[in-house]
Amino acid sequence: MKVVALGAGFGGLELTTRLSDALGDDVDVVLIDRSDGFVFGFSKLDVMFGRTTADAVHHAYADIVKPGVRFVQTAVRSIDAAARRVETDAGAFEADVLVVALGADLDPAATPGLVEGGHEFYTEPGAFALRDVLDGFDGGRVIVGVCSTPFKCPPAPSETALLVHDLLERRGLLDRSEVHLVMPLPVPIPPSPDASAALLTAFAERDIVFHPERLVRGLDPERKVALIADGDEMPYDLFLGVPKHTVPEVVAASDLCVDGWIPVDPVTLETAFPDVYAVGDVTSVGTPKAGVFAEGQAAVVADTIIARHRAGHDAPGYDGHGICYIEFGADEVGRVDVTFRGGERPQGRFDTPSVGYAADKGEFGASRIRRWFGREWTTR
Ligand SMILES: Cc1cc2nc3c(=O)[nH]c(=O)nc-3n(C[C@H](O)[C@H](O)[C@H](O)COP(=O)(O)OP(=O)(O)OC[C@H]3O[C@@H](n4cnc5c(N)ncnc54)[C@H](O)[C@@H]3O)c2cc1C
Repeated sequence: MKVVALGAGFGGLELTTRLSDALGDDVDVVLIDRSDGFVFGFSKLDVMFGRTTADAVHHAYADIVKPGVRFVQTAVRSIDAAARRVETDAGAFEADVLVVALGADLDPAATPGLVEGGHEFYTEPGAFALRDVLDGFDGGRVIVGVCSTPFKCPPAPSETALLVHDLLERRGLLDRSEVHLVMPLPVPIPPSPDASAALLTAFAERDIVFHPERLVRGLDPERKVALIADGDEMPYDLFLGVPKHTVPEVVAASDLCVDGWIPVDPVTLETAFPDVYAVGDVTSVGTPKAGVFAEGQAAVVADTIIARHRAGHDAPGYDGHGICYIEFGADEVGRVDVTFRGGERPQGRFDTPSVGYAADKGEFGASRIRRWFGREWTTR
């Protein structure tokens, strides 16, 4: 069986690791990504806030040595789902099973004024460049603002506001600074009322001003104001934005995309095309766009492929379960254990922030790098 996995992020790495662990050389797996390495989303915040370096959080795909898996660094140019065939800069690939795990692309230029007058912290270059910007910041009005929905890792803007507060405090700039968080959601994390309540308490304790149900539609760089979708304006000295997310261009141009994302069966992750699956941020499956869900979906697809190879075995379906760690500042991390099932209210349990969960988060990252890249790593 020939499996072609597009995208070596959370989804593609988990899928190919599972296939290799279970089937080794019995399956021919090609893993394709245009980048030369993987960076965790949360590592972007670690670099931005000076906890580690860009080099330390980069995991080179060249280090992937797994029986049955061949990594190809190239850009995917077209996807023919009906034929299970993709064109890339390195030639064409045909698959018995095709798995699309291309994630969400980010488009800072889609928000007028964001590139000229602000900063975004969702791309690697954007987050890494912010380290120097934050180092040189002399205090003032900071806005952390969401410019479009949907967006990856819904807790990340809240974490960023809390970490900005920590940084201002550490640098003795709090007395001449304000931190504002502008989000299109009614509470920081709607699926977990307890996590939202804890975040709102943490904001209140630190005088971080939370502006719910508001979206930033642009910046006016000359006047240094954020333009809010409801017509309001908010002045800023430093704007840290979550940019617009889109499906990668190659997916938008394919026969897979419906209303901006790839619809899949929520239990099997199969697309409308037989033996073509999609996992993670590129889908409209109904879970938040987060690595932990991409990983869980990839595990289900891997188990399906393994079951098919070992005819007679059944693969379990996707259960929508994931654990998210949330930075609360002061080196403490909270934990949300949440399950999303179609047609049901998401069930989330929140564990209060502690340094113990910060260690668990570290092990979450370290264990992935151990399994995916075969080496030891500490997150910060
Ligand atoms: C600041 C921040 C903090 C975050 N924190 C967390 C967290 O704590 N926990 C968590 O679970 N999630 C977190 N996330 C979200 C997480 O990073 C993503 O949801 C996750 O990476 C999605 O996995 P994926 O496999 O769907 O896509 P990705 O990991 O984005 O992988 C997609 C891959 O496809 C490749 N690709 C795209 N187009 C092409 C093409 N045309 N040709 C070749 N290759 C292509 C890309 O290079 C990329 O490597 C965070 C995100 C951010 C921005």
